[in-house]
Amino acid sequence: MIVLVMNSGSSSLKFQLIDMDNGDVMSKGLVERIGMGGDAGFEVKAKGEKIKKDVKADDHKQAVALVIDALTTGDLAVVDDLNNIDAIGHRIVQGGDSFPKAAVVDQRVKDLVREYGAMAPLHNYAALAGIEACEELMPTIPSVCVFDTSYHMTMDPAHYMYAIPYDDYKELKVRRYGAHGTSHKYVAREAAKAMGRPLEELKLITCHLGNGASVSAIKGGKIVDTSMGFTPLEGLVMGTRVGDIDAAAVLFIMKNKGYSIDEMDTYLNKKCGLLGVSGISNDFRDLEDAMQEGNERAKLAYDMFVLQVKKYIGAYYAELDGCDAIVFTAGIGENDDLVRGSICKGLDALGISVDPAKNDGCREFRDISKEGAKAHAFVIPTNEEYAIATETIEAVKEAGLVK
Ligand code: AMP
Repeated sequence: MIVLVMNSGSSSLKFQLIDMDNGDVMSKGLVERIGMGGDAGFEVKAKGEKIKKDVKADDHKQAVALVIDALTTGDLAVVDDLNNIDAIGHRIVQGGDSFPKAAVVDQRVKDLVREYGAMAPLHNYAALAGIEACEELMPTIPSVCVFDTSYHMTMDPAHYMYAIPYDDYKELKVRRYGAHGTSHKYVAREAAKAMGRPLEELKLITCHLGNGASVSAIKGGKIVDTSMGFTPLEGLVMGTRVGDIDAAAVLFIMKNKGYSIDEMDTYLNKKCGLLGVSGISNDFRDLEDAMQEGNERAKLAYDMFVLQVKKYIGAYYAELDGCDAIVFTAGIGENDDLVRGSICKGLDALGISVDPAKNDGCREFRDISKEGAKAHAFVIPTNEEYAIATETIEAVKEAGLVK
């Protein structure tokens, strides 16, 4: 089966066409600067080649039309007929508590994605624009919404509730939803495969450490707890997001700086985290370069990030009552041996111990745990597009929409 995976942001559209019979990525690319006034940027990689050009894309419909054109015509075309594509999987950031699994798009699904847009305004509305463009331009191909939140729907109330008045939780649906669900699910499955054991009998702590970062506790394949909350702002120190902070500090800053709600939203999401503390960058590579040159604030940001991940690992070890494996994934988790080493230092009492010889320079799927350590420690490259395509196929099969 061939699946087109779409990831629409407010001014961007990333796509991958995947042949799920062998996992091959037939074509991938992105449209950037959609609707920003000037030219949009369009990049496509297929057949071992890459095309990059400036194009016109005033909205997501024009961007989807460009993608269709690239897939079906010209030197990098990979399908003769659009109907060779079996399904389209759309990444949706926020599905509230309505979607414990992926859903084939219909009016009800679109209405709910719009409703939950209030919680993820930058993402859900853009995704809807992408879905509607696909419906219009590829009406015969079923579209599926795959939610970042679905995998976390197995949390029980003690884990997802905030201690706000219960009626407010009911009225406003303010609770922990989590994010990065497709990634946590994917690496958990891969870890079980690598251990040669059924996921159902494992206790795992998965660390998705990228520009956005979250840790999850997984028992028997089901999420028990996760560090992101009502939105992806909670939890770890991130590239530009603040992570955990006393709510009273937020009010204090607003009051003293005279920030509006929108200004405070931008502050917490874009000006804090590694960038805010270091004053240098949200990118770990820049921070580590600055640390080497003796920059103390870069070192502080690094230490705060490491400490926060450690705290969650400790908490989740306690919640799971053990841990069979810890997994590192995403940009930092997959590439940064220094951070992985720092996080795992001093966790021997939990059975987590990393072998420097296996960790150093590792940027591939590998068990980096010390010989004899109780828990495995894996580096597992995430593949969210493949995970989205897998869930898309499951949803269309269940709905009887397979050609
Ligand atoms: P992601 O959000 O998963 O794409 O991760 C992006 C982040 O990963 C960047 O902002 C960097 O902080 C980090 N990153 C990517 N490559 C490396 C690398 N080679 N070494 C250290 N950090 C990296």
